Amino acid sequence: MLSAELPANEAERQQALDRQNLVDTPADPYLDTLTRLARELFGVKMVLVSLVDKDRQWFKSRQGLEVPETPRSISFCGHAVALGDALVVEDSLADPRFCDNPLVLQTPKVRFYAGQPLRDASGMILGTLCLLDTTPRRLSEAELARLRDLAYLVEGYLRLLEQSAQASQLRVALSQEQRKSMLDPLTQLWNRAGLRHFLPLEQAAAERQKLHLGLIYCDLDYFKQVNDRHGHVAGDQVLWESARRMSAAVRPQDVVTRAGGEEFVILTQVHDAGELLRIAERIRLAIAEQPIALEQLQYRQTASLGCTLLAPAENPKEALKRADQALYRAKRAGRNRCELAL
Ligand code: GH3
Ligand code: MG
Ligand code: MG
Repeated sequence: MLSAELPANEAERQQALDRQNLVDTPADPYLDTLTRLARELFGVKMVLVSLVDKDRQWFKSRQGLEVPETPRSISFCGHAVALGDALVVEDSLADPRFCDNPLVLQTPKVRFYAGQPLRDASGMILGTLCLLDTTPRRLSEAELARLRDLAYLVEGYLRLLEQSAQASQLRVALSQEQRKSMLDPLTQLWNRAGLRHFLPLEQAAAERQKLHLGLIYCDLDYFKQVNDRHGHVAGDQVLWESARRMSAAVRPQDVVTRAGGEEFVILTQVHDAGELLRIAERIRLAIAEQPIALEQLQYRQTASLGCTLLAPAENPKEALKRADQALYRAKRAGRNRCELAL
């Protein structure tokens, strides 16, 4: 196996990546939609938005792969970054650079790889949009052009993100190490520490905007059954997909967290309780309306939600307790419903 060489401008490239503050941030519903479409378009098992960091590649979006990062020393994307151009490996077993790579010999057993570099506005390569499969294949010229087009969309979106106010807020507030410790690796949502961090910040922000901070406590219904009947891996997939649907159902500035197990807390700035209930209802429907595709079956998952508004200067713990009580009422009333606590 050959590890990729570092590009000549590696120090500058790393700085450009650090400036973006993208590594160790929550999954993004727009990028997840794009990678999901790419997976269908090309008919491959895995699609990644891979950011090539100092000693690892970290996936801002991933389809078909369970791990959030892999070492840079064994990464295919490192080679695409070094090349500075699209890299296509039609059959990894026939390529001396990759034939004994652990990603080839063990899970995820990569036989085919196609990575298109993603550049920032100044042309620095941040990582790749890449397609992977477990069987060898070729890409036609037309398919390569499609991959380039999709990478162009990802680049454009990343630039918009960089400019958005939210990104700059995050940048001021948290270092990469802090972000990493606040991110749940399974769902790629903020974890409980993230919730504790963002709650007072969102409360203050809502007050500045003359809005109310709404809390939505969301708990998956009879989730233990997924594990019991279909195994822990299926359970993890349901958690992953439910997290995607929750994030897609709320607005980009809302904060979605995994508070623990199969419990999620969403922070959202709203005008009144009616607006809060509508958002909670949208989340409920996003989970319940379509079954979740597991390996062998379509699984129907529902969730119960309890929500409340924080009173001005209220201790957030009190509000969380109230939302939890509303959730309990939703469970008792038959599940798959939203309850509001005033
Ligand atoms: P209810 O409708 O009352 O909420 O029932 P429930 O089965 O969802 O609730 P319960 O608290 O009894 O079970 C939650 C289950 O969530 C138990 C635990 O095994 C499972 N769980 C927690 N974290 C994870 C995880 O990371 N992965 C998987 N697969 N399961 C998890
Ligand atoms: Mg539950
Ligand atoms: Mg629970």
